[in-house]
Amino acid sequence: MFKKIFELLICCLFPPFCCSCQKLGSYLCRSCFELCVFTPFPIRLQLEPLYLTSISAPLELSGPISVLIHAFKYKSIKPIGSVLAKLLFLTADIPVVDLLTAVPLHSRRQQDRGFNQAEEIAIELARLLKLPYRPLLSRFRATSPQAKLKRQDRLEHLKDSFKPNPEATKIPPRILLIDDVTTTGTTLNECAQILRKMGAISVHGLVIAHGG
Ligand SMILES: [Zn+2]
Repeated sequence: MFKKIFELLICCLFPPFCCSCQKLGSYLCRSCFELCVFTPFPIRLQLEPLYLTSISAPLELSGPISVLIHAFKYKSIKPIGSVLAKLLFLTADIPVVDLLTAVPLHSRRQQDRGFNQAEEIAIELARLLKLPYRPLLSRFRATSPQAKLKRQDRLEHLKDSFKPNPEATKIPPRILLIDDVTTTGTTLNECAQILRKMGAISVHGLVIAHGG
Protein backbone atom coordinates (compact mmCIF):
# COMPACT_ATOMS: atom_id res chain seq x y z
CA MET A 1 0.00 0.00 0.00
CA PHE A 2 2.73 2.45 1.03
CA LYS A 3 4.73 1.49 -2.08
CA LYS A 4 1.72 2.25 -4.34
CA ILE A 5 1.19 5.69 -2.73
CA PHE A 6 4.91 6.41 -3.03
CA GLU A 7 4.91 5.42 -6.74
CA LEU A 8 1.83 7.61 -7.38
CA LEU A 9 3.52 10.54 -5.66
CA ILE A 10 6.71 10.10 -7.71
CA CYS A 11 4.61 9.86 -10.86
CA CYS A 12 2.83 13.16 -10.03
CA LEU A 13 6.08 14.93 -9.19
CA PHE A 14 8.04 13.51 -12.12
CA PRO A 15 5.52 12.48 -14.80
CA PRO A 16 6.93 10.13 -17.45
CA PHE A 17 7.74 11.42 -20.89
CA CYS A 18 8.36 9.54 -24.14
CA CYS A 19 12.04 8.53 -24.30
CA SER A 20 12.01 8.91 -28.07
CA CYS A 21 10.11 12.19 -28.76
CA GLN A 22 9.88 13.69 -25.21
CA LYS A 23 6.08 13.95 -25.33
CA LEU A 24 4.66 14.00 -21.78
CA GLY A 25 2.47 11.13 -20.59
CA SER A 26 4.30 7.79 -20.97
CA TYR A 27 7.79 6.37 -21.59
CA LEU A 28 6.73 5.31 -25.09
CA CYS A 29 3.98 7.39 -26.71
CA ARG A 30 1.45 5.98 -29.15
CA SER A 31 2.99 7.56 -32.27
CA CYS A 32 6.47 6.23 -31.37
CA PHE A 33 5.00 2.80 -30.57
CA GLU A 34 3.52 2.77 -34.07
CA LEU A 35 7.00 3.36 -35.51
CA CYS A 36 8.32 0.15 -33.89
CA VAL A 37 9.09 -2.70 -36.30
CA PHE A 38 7.50 -6.01 -35.30
CA THR A 39 9.18 -9.33 -36.12
CA PRO A 40 6.47 -12.00 -35.96
CA PHE A 41 8.70 -15.03 -36.66
CA PRO A 42 11.03 -16.84 -34.20
CA ILE A 43 14.73 -16.02 -34.64
CA ARG A 44 16.87 -18.61 -36.45
CA LEU A 45 20.18 -19.07 -34.69
CA GLN A 46 23.47 -20.17 -36.24
CA LEU A 47 24.82 -21.56 -32.96
CA GLU A 48 26.39 -24.97 -32.56
CA PRO A 49 25.56 -26.73 -30.28
CA LEU A 50 22.21 -25.15 -29.66
CA TYR A 51 20.82 -25.50 -26.14
CA LEU A 52 17.85 -23.17 -26.58
CA THR A 53 14.55 -24.79 -27.51
CA SER A 54 13.45 -21.57 -29.22
CA ILE A 55 14.23 -17.88 -29.20
CA SER A 56 11.92 -15.04 -30.08
CA ALA A 57 11.78 -11.26 -30.00
CA PRO A 58 8.62 -9.39 -30.95
CA LEU A 59 10.55 -6.31 -32.09
CA GLU A 60 13.49 -5.25 -34.20
CA LEU A 61 16.17 -3.31 -32.31
CA SER A 62 15.77 0.03 -34.07
CA GLY A 63 14.08 3.43 -33.72
CA PRO A 64 12.05 4.25 -30.58
CA ILE A 65 12.45 0.80 -29.00
CA SER A 66 16.26 1.03 -28.99
CA VAL A 67 16.02 4.53 -27.43
CA LEU A 68 13.66 3.16 -24.77
CA ILE A 69 15.93 0.20 -23.92
CA HIS A 70 18.97 2.50 -23.85
CA ALA A 71 17.23 4.83 -21.36
CA PHE A 72 16.26 1.81 -19.24
CA LYS A 73 19.81 0.47 -19.07
CA TYR A 74 22.10 3.45 -19.23
CA LYS A 75 19.97 6.17 -17.64
CA SER A 76 18.72 3.63 -15.05
CA ILE A 77 15.02 4.57 -15.47
CA LYS A 78 13.73 1.52 -13.61
CA PRO A 79 9.95 1.92 -14.30
CA ILE A 80 10.63 1.29 -18.02
CA GLY A 81 11.02 -2.38 -17.01
CA SER A 82 7.28 -2.76 -16.49
CA VAL A 83 6.54 -0.97 -19.81
CA LEU A 84 8.78 -3.50 -21.60
CA ALA A 85 7.23 -6.45 -19.72
CA LYS A 86 3.74 -5.27 -20.72
CA LEU A 87 4.95 -4.95 -24.32
CA LEU A 88 6.14 -8.58 -24.23
CA PHE A 89 2.92 -9.71 -22.58
CA LEU A 90 0.80 -8.08 -25.28
CA THR A 91 2.88 -8.78 -28.39
CA ALA A 92 5.06 -11.89 -27.88
CA ASP A 93 4.06 -15.45 -28.63
CA ILE A 94 4.81 -16.89 -25.17
CA PRO A 95 5.33 -20.68 -24.97
CA VAL A 96 3.87 -22.87 -22.21
CA VAL A 97 6.41 -22.84 -19.36
CA ASP A 98 6.59 -23.55 -15.62
CA LEU A 99 8.86 -20.75 -14.51
CA LEU A 100 10.57 -17.54 -15.62
CA THR A 101 14.19 -16.63 -15.03
CA ALA A 102 16.51 -13.90 -16.29
CA VAL A 103 20.01 -13.64 -17.72
CA PRO A 104 22.04 -12.52 -14.70
CA LEU A 105 24.22 -9.44 -14.57
CA HIS A 106 27.63 -9.43 -12.92
CA SER A 107 27.21 -8.13 -9.36
CA ARG A 108 29.57 -5.20 -9.96
CA ARG A 109 27.61 -3.98 -12.97
CA GLN A 110 24.34 -4.53 -11.13
CA GLN A 111 25.68 -2.35 -8.33
CA ASP A 112 26.53 0.44 -10.81
CA ARG A 113 23.12 0.28 -12.50
CA GLY A 114 21.14 -0.36 -9.33
CA PHE A 115 19.22 -3.26 -10.90
CA ASN A 116 19.42 -6.07 -13.45
CA GLN A 117 17.36 -4.93 -16.45
CA ALA A 118 16.54 -8.51 -17.56
CA GLU A 119 15.34 -9.40 -14.07
CA GLU A 120 13.10 -6.31 -13.86
CA ILE A 121 11.36 -7.37 -17.09
CA ALA A 122 11.14 -11.04 -16.03
CA ILE A 123 9.64 -10.31 -12.59
CA GLU A 124 6.91 -8.09 -14.06
CA LEU A 125 6.20 -10.48 -16.94
CA ALA A 126 5.91 -13.39 -14.47
CA ARG A 127 3.38 -11.33 -12.48
CA LEU A 128 1.32 -10.67 -15.64
CA LEU A 129 1.48 -14.36 -16.66
CA LYS A 130 0.71 -15.49 -13.09
CA LEU A 131 3.80 -17.71 -13.12
CA PRO A 132 6.70 -17.91 -10.66
CA TYR A 133 10.00 -16.08 -11.18
CA ARG A 134 13.27 -17.38 -9.73
CA PRO A 135 16.88 -16.23 -10.21
CA LEU A 136 18.34 -19.59 -11.31
CA LEU A 137 21.73 -18.36 -12.52
CA SER A 138 24.56 -16.11 -11.44
CA ARG A 139 27.39 -14.52 -13.39
CA PHE A 140 30.83 -15.00 -11.96
CA ARG A 141 33.01 -12.95 -14.25
CA ALA A 142 32.63 -9.40 -15.51
CA THR A 143 32.48 -9.27 -19.29
CA SER A 144 33.10 -6.38 -21.66
CA PRO A 145 30.08 -4.99 -23.54
CA GLN A 146 29.16 -7.73 -26.03
CA ALA A 147 28.40 -5.39 -28.91
CA LYS A 148 32.03 -4.27 -29.14
CA LEU A 149 33.42 -7.79 -29.63
CA LYS A 150 33.62 -9.86 -32.80
CA ARG A 151 31.57 -13.08 -32.90
CA GLN A 152 34.44 -15.47 -32.13
CA ASP A 153 35.76 -13.21 -29.35
CA ARG A 154 32.27 -13.08 -27.93
CA LEU A 155 32.10 -16.89 -27.75
CA GLU A 156 35.52 -17.08 -26.08
CA HIS A 157 34.75 -14.23 -23.78
CA LEU A 158 31.56 -15.75 -22.45
CA LYS A 159 33.13 -19.10 -21.67
CA ASP A 160 32.23 -20.22 -18.16
CA SER A 161 30.60 -16.91 -17.35
CA PHE A 162 27.47 -18.37 -15.83
CA LYS A 163 26.85 -20.85 -13.04
CA PRO A 164 23.82 -22.14 -11.14
CA ASN A 165 22.58 -19.93 -8.36
CA PRO A 166 23.48 -21.94 -5.21
CA GLU A 167 19.93 -21.44 -3.89
CA ALA A 168 18.33 -22.92 -7.04
CA THR A 169 18.48 -26.64 -6.31
CA LYS A 170 15.46 -28.31 -7.92
CA ILE A 171 14.12 -26.67 -11.08
CA PRO A 172 10.96 -27.42 -13.10
CA PRO A 173 11.22 -28.83 -16.66
CA ARG A 174 10.10 -25.86 -18.80
CA ILE A 175 11.93 -22.54 -18.41
CA LEU A 176 11.39 -19.13 -20.03
CA LEU A 177 14.68 -17.25 -20.07
CA ILE A 178 14.40 -13.45 -20.35
CA ASP A 179 16.85 -10.81 -21.54
CA ASP A 180 16.36 -7.31 -22.91
CA VAL A 181 18.03 -7.67 -26.32
CA THR A 182 19.98 -10.20 -28.37
CA THR A 183 22.23 -10.13 -31.43
CA THR A 184 23.63 -13.64 -31.97
CA GLY A 185 21.83 -15.39 -29.11
CA THR A 186 25.18 -16.48 -27.60
CA THR A 187 24.46 -15.23 -24.07
CA LEU A 188 21.04 -16.87 -23.96
CA ASN A 189 22.48 -20.11 -25.36
CA GLU A 190 25.23 -20.17 -22.69
CA CYS A 191 22.58 -19.72 -19.99
CA ALA A 192 20.42 -22.44 -21.58
CA GLN A 193 23.36 -24.86 -21.42
CA ILE A 194 23.66 -24.36 -17.65
CA LEU A 195 19.88 -24.60 -17.16
CA ARG A 196 19.82 -27.91 -19.02
CA LYS A 197 22.67 -29.21 -16.85
CA MET A 198 20.53 -28.20 -13.88
CA GLY A 199 17.70 -30.41 -15.18
CA ALA A 200 15.60 -28.23 -17.50
CA ILE A 201 13.99 -30.14 -20.39
CA SER A 202 13.20 -27.06 -22.47
CA VAL A 203 14.59 -23.53 -22.35
CA HIS A 204 12.82 -20.86 -24.41
CA GLY A 205 14.61 -17.55 -24.85
CA LEU A 206 12.53 -14.38 -25.00
CA VAL A 207 13.84 -10.84 -25.49
CA ILE A 208 12.22 -7.52 -26.35
CA ALA A 209 14.25 -6.81 -29.46
CA HIS A 210 16.63 -8.48 -31.88
CA GLY A 211 19.30 -6.64 -33.83
CA GLY A 212 22.93 -6.31 -34.75
ZN1 LIG B 1 7.09 9.50 -28.60
